Amino acid sequence: MSKIIASAAIRGAHKVCRNAEELLQKVIAEKGEDYHFEFPDTAFYLPMIYAITGFEVKTLKDMKEALRMAQELLHEEPEDKIWKPYLGEALDSGMATLFAEEIWLALRYIEGLEPVKDPETGYEYNGFITDTIQRNLGIQLVDGRMPGFAAIIGAAPDDETAVKIVRELQEKNILVFLSGKARDKNGNLTSVTHQLLRNKIELGWDVYVVPLGPETEHTLYALDWAIRASLIFGGHKGGDYRSNLKYTKDRVFAFALVLGELDDIKWATGAGAINMGFPAICDTDVPVIHPTGVCTYEEVDKELDHSKIVQRAIEVRGLKVIVDKPPIPIAYGPAFEGERIRKEETFIEFGGTRSPAFEWVRLREMDEIEDGKIEIVGDNWKERYEQGGIMPLGILVEVAGRKMQPDFLPIIERRLHHNINEGQGIWHMGQRDINWIRISHAAKQAGFTLEDIAKIHHAMTHKRFSAIVDKVQVTLFTDEEDVKKWCELARVEWRERDKRLEALTDESVDTFYSCLLCQSFAPTHVCVITPERLGLCGAYNWLDCKAAYEIDPTGGNQPIPKGELVDPKYGRYTGVDEYLKKASGGAVETLNLYTIMENPMTSCGCFECIVAIIPEANGVMIVQRGHTGMTPIGMKFSTLAGTVGGGVQTPGFMGVGVNFITSKKFLHGDGGIKRIVWMTKALKERVKEKFQQRAAEEGVPDLLDKIADETICEDSEKLLEFLTQVGHPALEMEPMI
Ligand code: SF4
Ligand code: ZN
Repeated sequence: MSKIIASAAIRGAHKVCRNAEELLQKVIAEKGEDYHFEFPDTAFYLPMIYAITGFEVKTLKDMKEALRMAQELLHEEPEDKIWKPYLGEALDSGMATLFAEEIWLALRYIEGLEPVKDPETGYEYNGFITDTIQRNLGIQLVDGRMPGFAAIIGAAPDDETAVKIVRELQEKNILVFLSGKARDKNGNLTSVTHQLLRNKIELGWDVYVVPLGPETEHTLYALDWAIRASLIFGGHKGGDYRSNLKYTKDRVFAFALVLGELDDIKWATGAGAINMGFPAICDTDVPVIHPTGVCTYEEVDKELDHSKIVQRAIEVRGLKVIVDKPPIPIAYGPAFEGERIRKEETFIEFGGTRSPAFEWVRLREMDEIEDGKIEIVGDNWKERYEQGGIMPLGILVEVAGRKMQPDFLPIIERRLHHNINEGQGIWHMGQRDINWIRISHAAKQAGFTLEDIAKIHHAMTHKRFSAIVDKVQVTLFTDEEDVKKWCELARVEWRERDKRLEALTDESVDTFYSCLLCQSFAPTHVCVITPERLGLCGAYNWLDCKAAYEIDPTGGNQPIPKGELVDPKYGRYTGVDEYLKKASGGAVETLNLYTIMENPMTSCGCFECIVAIIPEANGVMIVQRGHTGMTPIGMKFSTLAGTVGGGVQTPGFMGVGVNFITSKKFLHGDGGIKRIVWMTKALKERVKEKFQQRAAEEGVPDLLDKIADETICEDSEKLLEFLTQVGHPALEMEPMI
């Protein structure tokens, strides 16, 4: 690394350490050394310090110790260091900077200064990124929907350039974090966040643009988030800094765009990021740093042309960006999925109980339809569309293909939602005959027509299902009578589909499927997906996997011939064991599908819920991701999640998808749903209908009322009282252990 940069980074590191130390002394004077601190919703203490050193910072006293580690990293005599990585002088100063920044931010949390509220606009920055968000985004990362992350530090020369750069990243589905400030071309100190706010650009997780805070130091929140991927999905331990840093370099595709002039703190933070394998691309005339060991690509690079800077960064970091855009006049991509369209912003809407509507994917023979044919049926539909307001709309998507099967229809149909929602300025909710579509004034002004809805479905159905669909024809009905008539036909088919789905059991098929998507993050994890057990993230069921395999035979979903059923109670199949040994690289020898007690399914990290045994209650509890309260086993979801992930089998604990709870195979070998003694209120609500049906089948129709939730108790003592009082069946069942 160049001498000038190295000394800037070292100066910056000293500055950040001093700031942290001053604030630490102040907070200790106020609160005392034993004051306890946790970032919101994380199981990893101060995640960066924990991942690198293994040190669990829990109190102000611990922060003092951790800060000493940071300062010693800057110390001249390396042999005196209590923690000795050999990253080289500048990189050590980078790591010291990250430690000190983490401590400084933690202290600011204690002082009530984080997340920062912008004094000018009242906008509240995101602040620390929780474990829950980390897990939520996990799936998008592994299935390639999100190719990587960009941290933009500073400010663009003008608002227009800021908007352009961010839009370009959004269209490529790259998650954007914003922090720091710089001078624009008029010499005003500003930030990309302000530049976007001024232009009324929607910000937040839903649209992939997350302002972390106004200072350079806030970039640490993004790095903190990246390093946790290694702990959560990679199964690496705190203190194993080599593995953790290697993981971020190999698997977390991040880079920084540094806009505007650099100062010592930016260089120091940048040196920290380089340790993690994240290069910086600057729009100023900085010295380029070629590969020096950490990275096999430029660690610092420059691109003075703002229209090329995103592309340059993508090339340097080696991101794989695939953009599928239908021929429509608006921007398109998953980054626009979360965008909302309020009533005032709506030009026209369809469905949502305001008008009759439906969307239906129907299977046809190859010679019955014409590919690319789009027809809009209805009296003067053009004029009615131009008027705006409310309109009936039936969407009939007819598909044909030599490899098409009726089983794939619900999957293609479910994607209709995403097809529409990924357009900028258009919005979709629901499905079948409860769908609801809005087109915004902005999209209309950009030239979006009714026909474009059909064009989107045509293009995206082809793109997403190219291996099974050869022809797609779309018809839109705009007269109320037509919509109602066609909807009746669709309903007949939907009823049949539902019946067929119900009838699918583990016994009725001879092939299960694997999902290996999460192996890019949790290398030994395999989801075994059967008709009665969906993937633990909740996003893939057996039919999805079957279709995915047809679409891409070498992809992440592979067939598992189930072989002999050697243990009907616990659900052990010879074919599954054989497959697992290979697919997990020998990490998992044998698996029981229907129990939590012995060789249960492994977990990667993106489970919707965690099931955990409560030995004293002779049953299990279930808590879903995002629940922040305590549970009867004395652990919050975040803590519990920290012990379950990483692709290992943990008897007594298991990550599951919500819909598995009401499956007949749920803990079948342990006594089924009668084992559930505690479950959050939100979960109870979500599974209610199906659960009550299952409870009746099990002979305990009022089971749901006998299951405690957080409004009844959050500790095991009260739980036992409650269970005894209501006569919960688990108390009478044979001991779990
Ligand atoms: Fe990951 Fe399993 Fe979901 Fe596949 S099904 S994405 S492996 S959690
Ligand atoms: Zn996963």
